Order: sequence, then structure tokens, then C-alpha cells
Amino acid sequence: MRKLIVAGNWKMNKTNTEAVKTVSELKELVKDVKNVEVVVGVPFTALSDVAKELKDSNVKVAAENMHWEEKGAFTGEISPLMLKDINVEYVILGHSERREYFGETNEIVNKKVKSALAHDLKPILCVGEQLEDRESGNTEKVVEDHVVGGLKDLTKEDMLNVVVAYEPVWAIGTGKTATPAQAEEVHKFIRGLIAKLYDEETANEITIQYGGSMKPANAEELISQKNIDGGLVGGASLIPEDFSKIVKSAK
Ligand code: 13P
Repeated sequence: MRKLIVAGNWKMNKTNTEAVKTVSELKELVKDVKNVEVVVGVPFTALSDVAKELKDSNVKVAAENMHWEEKGAFTGEISPLMLKDINVEYVILGHSERREYFGETNEIVNKKVKSALAHDLKPILCVGEQLEDRESGNTEKVVEDHVVGGLKDLTKEDMLNVVVAYEPVWAIGTGKTATPAQAEEVHKFIRGLIAKLYDEETANEITIQYGGSMKPANAEELISQKNIDGGLVGGASLIPEDFSKIVKSAK
């Protein structure tokens, strides 16, 4: 059985004080959850205190980005060593907002994915098409480009620690969710692609999350699709009650 993972991506929201309060509520709400890995992706400034607050809980911590180098003259950047030192386990990489506003290319994302794995951090590789790609019939081409580019040079063993998140950009923060059938179609395509790049076993093992306006009202139907193994949740992850409902709807 593949691991179901529901991860929050808070983006640039919540001060450190607010973040600690939020996760202290969340950990209580999900303390009995066993079949789903629960993860919260929080801003760099909150990571250390959030990781301390969640230390003896079943909620794991993710960073939302990182640089690929361990240290050096990269003003304003955060390294994998810094994340490991404060007990971060996951790192969200190649999010569409990083690609769109901060110029991250597949090449940059791939360097980060490789560095995360080399430092024992689990990358959540985000892939997904823009609205114009979908409208021009290029969804699979763009998604394939992101998957192949992001996973370049990774071994079959590496793949055991990789999570892929399919996030159609037109569904992010817009309230427009992909229908379960639309999402499932792309998830199936991604799994098939991984089978081609590696093998069936690797493709069957990898967790592929859906992201884009996931909320308590639509999570169960999305996650119950055959190839959807959880969610990467933006807006709804900021409210512990909503996020915990999404976690509990994953079966
Ligand atoms: P929303 O859930 O707010 O649409 O954001 C999705 C997302 O970008 C998660 O990474």
C-alpha cells in the first residue's frame, strides 16, 4: 500500500507566534490519525519553534523551499544542513509560485531535489500546467517536462523518498478545483511516466498528492481516486479544523 500524505503549504502566512499556536491546536485534532502522514509546510522563520512544538506528535514538518548548497555566499538563502539541524523532514520544491515569481527552472528544481535527498530530506516535487497549457492541449507535455526535469539523475532508491504533488496552476487559490476525474487522469499519466522512467514497482510505491483548492468538501472524493494519494493543501491548511477534516477524509 502506498503512503497517503496530506501536507499543508502555508506559503507566506503566519508569524512564528501564530504558527506555534496553530500547530499546537492541529496536533491535538489529528493525534489519533494513523493511516495518513500529516505534514505542515511553514515559513522559515517558524520552522524551528514549530518543529519543537510537534516533537512528540504525529505531525511532520516541511520547509517550503531551500537552496541546494550547504553553505556559502548566497545572501538570504537557507541550506539543507540548516533544515536538518532543526528536525525538518520534508521540503516542498518547485512549487508553481517559485517557478512563476522566482524564476525557478526544471534545472534549478532538480538541483534542489538532488540536494534534499543527499541530505536525507524528503522532497515534495510540485508539477502542473497553467490554464493556457490545458486549453491548448499541452497538459501532459508540461507535466512530463516537470516530472522528467525534476527527477533527472535520480536512482530507483532515491525515488523511495520522493513525493510528487500534481498542482494544476489554474486551480491554486482560485476556488476552481480540478474535478476528481480531471485530476485522476493526470495522476495516472504521472504514474505511467514513472513506470517508464523506472519500473512498475517504483510507480506503484510513489505517493502522488493533488493540490489546488482542496478543502473539507472536496477532499474525500479527490483522495478516493485510484491514483491520488493525499493532498498538498494551501488556504485550507491555515485553519486547523479544516485541515484536520481533510486529513481525516483520506482513506
Ligand atoms: P490552495 O489550496 O490555496 O489552492 O493552494 C494549493 C497549493 O498551492 C498548495 O501548494
